[in-house]
Amino acid sequence: MSKTPIWVTRSSMPDFEEYTAEIASLWDSHMLTNMGPKHKKLVSDLKEYLGVPNITLFVNGHSALECAIEAMGITGKVITTPYTFASTTHALVRKGLTPVFADVKPDDYTIDPARIEELIDDETSAIVPVHVYGNLCDVDAIQDIAGRHGLKVIYDAAHAFGVRRGDESAASFGDASMFSFHATKVFNTIEGGAVCYKDPALAPKLDMWKNFGITGVESVEAVGGNAKMNEFAAAMGICNLRHVDDEIAKRKAVCERYWDRLEALPGVKVCRPQEGITPNYAYLPVVFEGTEFGATRNEVYAALMVHDIHPRKYFYPLISDFECYAGRFDSSKTPVAKRVADRVLTLPMYADLDLADVDQICDIIADVRR
Ligand SMILES: *Cc1c(COP(=O)(O)O)cnc(C)c1O
Repeated sequence: MSKTPIWVTRSSMPDFEEYTAEIASLWDSHMLTNMGPKHKKLVSDLKEYLGVPNITLFVNGHSALECAIEAMGITGKVITTPYTFASTTHALVRKGLTPVFADVKPDDYTIDPARIEELIDDETSAIVPVHVYGNLCDVDAIQDIAGRHGLKVIYDAAHAFGVRRGDESAASFGDASMFSFHATKVFNTIEGGAVCYKDPALAPKLDMWKNFGITGVESVEAVGGNAKMNEFAAAMGICNLRHVDDEIAKRKAVCERYWDRLEALPGVKVCRPQEGITPNYAYLPVVFEGTEFGATRNEVYAALMVHDIHPRKYFYPLISDFECYAGRFDSSKTPVAKRVADRVLTLPMYADLDLADVDQICDIIADVRR
């Protein structure tokens, strides 16, 4: 029998000795933050791993997205998806922008390019799509629309660390991509984030916005915030990056066990990797078609919780149904997203999850059916 509770995720950590060896030099330098040697090393390690020319690190993914918006001078309306974590929409609203929600595709839950163009008007300045669950958006169609209408594209790639299309990294699409290195993500720096971008001229702007708008010892050019990654977080990233490929390989085995078991049940839809994409196996979203499956998503959720197994309803409710946005959006205008949000459950998924635990979770799910 398995060890419970089983949480939806479990953070990856290096061996204690590996981390303490990495941070030992901080006791000599006393340099704890403000872009020190660990920060510099993580920048170069990540450039190599992600295969991108430009990357700027942040204290977390959310601040990275807010700073990218500021640095790129995005204004007015932004076309985005309601099927994501609160951060994506909150970043837009907190920066004074108006989110305009396009519906998602029923197969991989990423923004539907066919729904974007009809929402564009004179005030639209950007598209902020999300590679949700690590599923890549239709990047070519989105780039085509952006090109024709002169819009910027900033990807929320928080779920897509390590995902590739052929030899193109998920970090290489659009004008910029935001990553989250939060403890629960495939690659973590405890808390952390990054922006990868095409135009090297963005570098000094991102540096300015993440450090109070300071551009020189005696010059402050913008009302910036504080979003710098500290040395302990960077050291955690240096260590975790050494093992991330092994972690992804272990995740693959867990995902495949889930998929094989769950696909055998009627009315259950899992998210297999997209054609031509190297996935990162970040999440295990499952959609339950109540009538066909014989139980609702909420019944499956309750049955697992009884066994001290903690899945999450990611992403329910839809952002457009959040209390804080009451009266501002209409979720019935994105019916596909609403339908998925009402039926989806994200199951426990991490590198060290025992296959015996996966089997137990799948047995409980199979038994819920009426
Ligand atoms: C985790 C996450 C974020 C925010 O990242 P933090 O590092 O937690 O600030 C943004 N968007 C999505 C889709 C996420 O999952």
